[in-house]
Amino acid sequence: MSDIDVEISEVGPRDGLQNTKAFMPTEAKKAWISAEAAAGVREIEVCSFVPPKLLPQFVDAAEVVAHALTIPGLAVAALIPNLKGAERAVAAGVHKLSFTISVSRAHSLSNVRKTPEEQLEEFRRIVAFLKTQPKEKRAFLSGGLSTVFGCTLEGRIDEREVVRLAVALAEAGADDVSLADTVGYANPAQIKRVFTAVRREIGDTLTSAHLHNTRGLGLANAAAALECGIKTLDSSLGGLGGCPYAPGASGNIVTEDLVFMLEAMGLRTGIDLEKLLGVRRILEEALPGAELFGNLALAGLPKGFARAAA
Ligand code: ZN
Repeated sequence: MSDIDVEISEVGPRDGLQNTKAFMPTEAKKAWISAEAAAGVREIEVCSFVPPKLLPQFVDAAEVVAHALTIPGLAVAALIPNLKGAERAVAAGVHKLSFTISVSRAHSLSNVRKTPEEQLEEFRRIVAFLKTQPKEKRAFLSGGLSTVFGCTLEGRIDEREVVRLAVALAEAGADDVSLADTVGYANPAQIKRVFTAVRREIGDTLTSAHLHNTRGLGLANAAAALECGIKTLDSSLGGLGGCPYAPGASGNIVTEDLVFMLEAMGLRTGIDLEKLLGVRRILEEALPGAELFGNLALAGLPKGFARAAA
């Protein structure tokens, strides 16, 4: 039996830095990853294998992965935009590859210049590539859907399309499927409706949720996703990166606030909150001027707070 109830997947070094203008020095990235692992975080998405020409922030992807792989017990995840990225990530030794299809056709075309169907074809090529790898060393492949709950270009998203693409990812060979509220449009009732509809079709293959706090509903949405059986939640330390479409607005749900909510609810994360809060200093020093979010860092832990017990 697992000794945790909810797995936190820290995505700040990828999602956060992707939306941060200043380059975070490689040594600071390594220190951040090490410090979060030491606080008890067991999975970290450490980079994106996009071409460095497109996103210079990840020019050091292989070096950051190599460092993360030296940390005992840490699951090292990376975002891969295409087959080429998958090949680079596998060569670097990444444990978990995350590939994303945008449900919004307009978003998909503007972001990767491909339709969702073309992205699905790319996903199938990645599955085929992974099958050429020795089974015992094969990376875990997560198939994500983005702009599931709304899109800055298309507005409302057809929920039947979400279900259809989730089923397609599962059938194509995704080890797990994740649903993302990329621009923070979701509300808890919608979360329950969509997660329930997708789970009805693919069951426990739908494991994780990637939520943003752009409109302040991030934690409420996380609680709703938990009620649908979600076991893994993505979040970003200090909500780093903000929202590229809404200057000043927060981005990913804040890891330390999420861990506080879960532990206070009696759900074990395996994470030491005092240590986790201390990691913010690395971001403050390495990225002066970058905005950090989070309520717990401002208010501190409540008197008499106790972690969830075994
Ligand atoms: Zn995101």
